[in-house]
Amino acid sequence: MPCLVCPKGKTASLMEYRDNPGGGCYDRRVSGFGFEILAESSVSDEKRDSEDTKGCRARLGKVTTPHGEFDTPAFMPVGTKGTVKGLLPQVVRETGSQVILNNTYHLMLRPGSELVKKMGGVHRFMDWDGVILTDSGGFQVFSLGDINELNDAGVTFKSQIDGAMVRMEAEDSMRIQNDLGADIIMAFDDCPPAKITDIDGQSPAGRHAVSDKEYDTRNRQAVERTVNWLKRSVDAHNNDAQALFGIVQGGTDLAMRSECAERVVEMDLPGYAIGGVAVGEGHEKMMQITRHTAPRLPRDKPRYLMGVGYEKDIVAAVKAGVDMFDCVLPTRNGRNGNAFTGQGQIRLRNAQYKEDARPMEEGCDCLTCRRFSRAYIRHLFMADEMLGPMLVSIHNIRYFQRLMVDIREAIRKDDWSIVGANRPVLDMDA
Ligand SMILES: [Zn+2]
Repeated sequence: MPCLVCPKGKTASLMEYRDNPGGGCYDRRVSGFGFEILAESSVSDEKRDSEDTKGCRARLGKVTTPHGEFDTPAFMPVGTKGTVKGLLPQVVRETGSQVILNNTYHLMLRPGSELVKKMGGVHRFMDWDGVILTDSGGFQVFSLGDINELNDAGVTFKSQIDGAMVRMEAEDSMRIQNDLGADIIMAFDDCPPAKITDIDGQSPAGRHAVSDKEYDTRNRQAVERTVNWLKRSVDAHNNDAQALFGIVQGGTDLAMRSECAERVVEMDLPGYAIGGVAVGEGHEKMMQITRHTAPRLPRDKPRYLMGVGYEKDIVAAVKAGVDMFDCVLPTRNGRNGNAFTGQGQIRLRNAQYKEDARPMEEGCDCLTCRRFSRAYIRHLFMADEMLGPMLVSIHNIRYFQRLMVDIREAIRKDDWSIVGANRPVLDMDA
């Protein structure tokens, strides 16, 4: 008897299906996870599936998990160390956030995944009752870690907490993410460094960049490892309640992206991510990769563009058919006193706001804008008070969630002018 849930009819018997009413399949090890497309932008199938077009392939959907649902396209605030910096979970919830991201790299080093497991898992530990996604830890090992050894089996790096050598392979990432207990977990992958000639401006990612010649070898290696580590991740994954997403690498080489997508999709997973972007390659290249890769991922599964981005990146990627995003921008910039607004970012430390009684952004419904003036928030930053970073982070997350609300409305009504309205600096056709 083919599975009643899997489109490919690959697995479970009817009896197994009855025993697992959450809707998943045993061999995909997902119960209680689902993705439903509620509306799609009105373009022809031909245009939607053609790769190098800016044609709109946007989808409005809903992801279901054991900790509730979230609407897509979705923006996930980053709660690096098990906290969205400076914000109570309730406050994060009030920004309209339904799903947050935690970083495996940070939590494994401190306090350690065993402790989080002992405390009832990461939802309970941080008191977030919504959906949580954890990354695999790989990207941060490569971008932050002091790498001692990187080979086909995995990576050894020096802990930034106590200098100890830490070995990380696919099985370790899965064990740690199983301990943490997020609803969506990511396969362990190898993210190649950017190519020097692709680096856009003064991106900090440039410090790892490699020459063009070296790049092709390193990129091929990263794709092979990513596919191999995905297989090992699938085998090691050991918690039915968590959905494991595969990640497509391939750098800026579109043929490598195609190959990697094909090999990753073969694994038949509940969702897929496009990784290795936003590493300094710039908007144009990022969108070229996204427009090329997204249609190569199954239409009936959520697609996640990792670590992106600015408003125009998100709008363009949604149009390319991406459903999920995460980025540190709202909180990182918030802590530095930079507020996102529809008129562009404003720097609250500037003297021009000294006597400015207006809210940070007129018309914003966030807690900060409802109650506090620019002058007060500027004062908090000048006086180095902790409330300043908190208030701007609240606004910035809400700003991104309002963007997502408008994007979802635009898809539902098939009218993108909804997103452009009141955002004069947002390039809708980027
Ligand atoms: Zn606001």
